Amino acid sequence: MTLRTIAASLLTITELPYAYDALEPYISAETMHFHHDKHYAGYVTKLGELTEGTRYRGMPLEEVITCSDGAIFNNASQAWNHVFYFESLSPRAKHHPTGELRRAIDEQFGSVDELKRRMTAMATTLFGSGWVWLATDSDGKLYILSKPNAGTPLTDGLIPLLCIDVWEHAYYIDYRNARKDAVEKLWHVVDWSVIEARYDNVVI
Ligand code: MN
Repeated sequence: MTLRTIAASLLTITELPYAYDALEPYISAETMHFHHDKHYAGYVTKLGELTEGTRYRGMPLEEVITCSDGAIFNNASQAWNHVFYFESLSPRAKHHPTGELRRAIDEQFGSVDELKRRMTAMATTLFGSGWVWLATDSDGKLYILSKPNAGTPLTDGLIPLLCIDVWEHAYYIDYRNARKDAVEKLWHVVDWSVIEARYDNVVI
């Protein structure tokens, strides 16, 4: 399996790749401050406490995720998921995928709009907290997955391409309880050039 290692490490808080207010009006600076500085940073800090003196300290974060459970898994996966999520968004987003990824989306889902519709529907109906993922296997087949809590395609042996954070902290400041509206707005800042690069890394 080819897995592009993201810029997430076990003990370091990865900075946002853009300014806190860069994703406005779709995601406010206030949300980004809480999401990055409190929620994401909190997972990294907690993971540091939980792994002190353990064998996990010598592992890449992806390996910690696939060979742990309980609190260490939850905090490791949440740390990874958030860096991956923040890296998926951009104020200069490419709004439509092209190339190999576009070909695969059209073949499996009919259109990019249909893929977005399905992911939005799954994000809207996921009960409680969690993530909706677009992932691929090593053959380039695409999967849409709904995962509760800290869930990740990594534990299914799949390669993550895109995630939607549907924990309330991701949208409640800006959208209150209107999760569907939050997800529909999120598409404006999903940078398909990033998602394409992740897919091309697997299939090309
Ligand atoms: Mn989050």
